[in-house]
Amino acid sequence: MNDCIFCKIINGELPCVKVYEDIEIMAFLDIHPVNFGHTLIVPKAHYINISDTPTDLLGKLMVVTQKIAPAILKATGTSSFNLGVNNGAPAGQVIFHTHFHVMPRYEGDGYKMWGSRAYAPGEMEKLGEAVKAAI
Ligand code: 5GP
Ligand code: ZN
Repeated sequence: MNDCIFCKIINGELPCVKVYEDIEIMAFLDIHPVNFGHTLIVPKAHYINISDTPTDLLGKLMVVTQKIAPAILKATGTSSFNLGVNNGAPAGQVIFHTHFHVMPRYEGDGYKMWGSRAYAPGEMEKLGEAVKAAI
């Protein structure tokens, strides 16, 4: 895709700090990291997000994630990370080229998980049924 920043990075038209590359996948440091070492793992082929990415490629992204996460943790001197996917604009997706975020986390770094809500009685079960019926 001509106007996709990540395609331009993958094609070498834009610079990046690359940390991993194979035939189908690339990983580079996020330019605005949540914590230093925040890494983006992307397929070289352009897909919008995990909703249209072929299943086997998603599997390969996860394999690469598991492979390089220990190196990211070693380089950043921590033992934990969040794996994130913002799937769709309301979920915070800004770059519409599939990517996983590996975000190193530190004890007391101040970040919190997302908030939580409470179901009304029966609402949770009803929603569970609706999801099962839609699969
Ligand atoms: P999203 O919100 O789409 O899941 O995340 C996109 C990520 O891409 C953001 O964390 C943002 O900092 C990162 N990003 C945006 N433009 C660039 C860029 O040109 N280079 C790099 N390395 N990261 C970028
Ligand atoms: Zn792209």
